[in-house]
Amino acid sequence: LNEKFVVNRQVDVLIIGGGLTGASLLLALAHTGLRVLLVEQESWAQPLHAHDPRNIALAPASVRILEQLQLWPLLEPFATPVVDIHISEAGAFGSSVLNSPNHAPLGFVVEMHHIHQVLVSRVDPAKVLAPAQLIALDVDAQIAQVKTAEGVLHIEAALIVAADGSHSPTRRFCGLKPKVHDYAQQAIVSNITLARSHGGRAFERFLSEGVMAFLPLSAARAALIWTMPHAAVQAALSLDTLDFLNRLQQTFGYRLGRFIDATPRASFPLKQQWLPEPLYQSIIFVGNAAQTLHPVAGQGFNLGLRDVAMLAQCIVAHGLSDKMREAYKSARQTDKMQTLVFTDGLIRLFSSHMPGVSCLRRMGLLAFDKLPGVKPWFSRQAQGFGGIVPDLACGIPLRGCRKKLGN
Ligand SMILES: Cc1cc2nc3c(=O)[nH]c(=O)nc-3n(C[C@H](O)[C@H](O)[C@H](O)COP(=O)(O)OP(=O)(O)OC[C@H]3O[C@@H](n4cnc5c(N)ncnc54)[C@H](O)[C@@H]3O)c2cc1C
Repeated sequence: LNEKFVVNRQVDVLIIGGGLTGASLLLALAHTGLRVLLVEQESWAQPLHAHDPRNIALAPASVRILEQLQLWPLLEPFATPVVDIHISEAGAFGSSVLNSPNHAPLGFVVEMHHIHQVLVSRVDPAKVLAPAQLIALDVDAQIAQVKTAEGVLHIEAALIVAADGSHSPTRRFCGLKPKVHDYAQQAIVSNITLARSHGGRAFERFLSEGVMAFLPLSAARAALIWTMPHAAVQAALSLDTLDFLNRLQQTFGYRLGRFIDATPRASFPLKQQWLPEPLYQSIIFVGNAAQTLHPVAGQGFNLGLRDVAMLAQCIVAHGLSDKMREAYKSARQTDKMQTLVFTDGLIRLFSSHMPGVSCLRRMGLLAFDKLPGVKPWFSRQAQGFGGIVPDLACGIPLRGCRKKLGN
């Protein structure tokens, strides 16, 4: 931003992006007394993700956070509990069932458009500027240039939070390059109607060329995520519904009974991408802007929601200060790294064709049930309780905000 301009608006916290992460942060900061503004490039009146076919498996830690934000009662009617997870590999003997020792659900599956609708319904519209697109950023002056239907605005903020997703323009304006691992695969997503109930069981089946996962949904439906190399995607997308269901049934078998219908398929490219540092000067990156994961372990939004919970906690404890930024960075390090390693490790282990690795993973699936410590670690990680757990995920509410701008 080189030219002279007038600052049109000053806020304490400017959130760029109103996806699940940005909207959650706006709600988490609602009672802090801070002047918070969220800018979203899409229209807010026509809910984002209204046609998004993704389903989100919410980990128990996320459910606790959503309870503390008073959102869970609104989401629960749309949530299907996951009773256990069956993990297997095509063509191998070993399989394992992951369940909770106290029979509590391992998580809940909610269609993404329901989550976003609930978030939007609770947000104060006066705190949202949409459609409004971030088009430039003066990082030193902490001024964002935002294009709206009425013209270009300059917004000055003590703290800028980038929640603008995997392609984060904020990251680009800061000149930051994320580390990327491209899996050279895509995920095909569709909701499958079953001839019988799934009984709350989720499935992860590792195939020679990808992973097939089913998550339980309401009304005898299961959410499919099927990953495959780019070259195979077009063929799978172009099959008619009946041929697609036949192919699905042949590949997966009958553990879920007969597949009788499928919603239109969508595909998503698969990359793991992360910023080694979630901070850049006054800017904090959260959610997919900070890290994008392979969806097989269902961790992306869960991790983003823990970013939100910890950031709100640090802001309440330390105000908008350098201490807050440092506290946030160090509190989030372990959870992020463990989740990245856990998700990526799972994919690499099951996609390796190296001699010996296949044998090891078969033994691993068998031993998974037996080895002390392995299952609890896996469960803790998958449930969102790895690393330093945010207060909200422990059921502890945020205390009142000590408003303290600057250092
Ligand atoms: C197939 C699939 C299945 C998944 N399943 C799960 C699961 O089971 N559990 C789970 O936890 N996660 C899952 N995820 C991951 C989850 O969907 C994401 O982590 C989550 O939706 C990311 O939300 P976000 O708000 O960080 O980013 P986004 O949803 O990308 O939101 C970013 C927002 O920023 C806005 N924006 C971008 N640029 C600008 C700009 N210049 N100005 C203003 N606004 C801008 C965009 O319009 C958008 O609304 C899955 C992902 C995939 C692909």
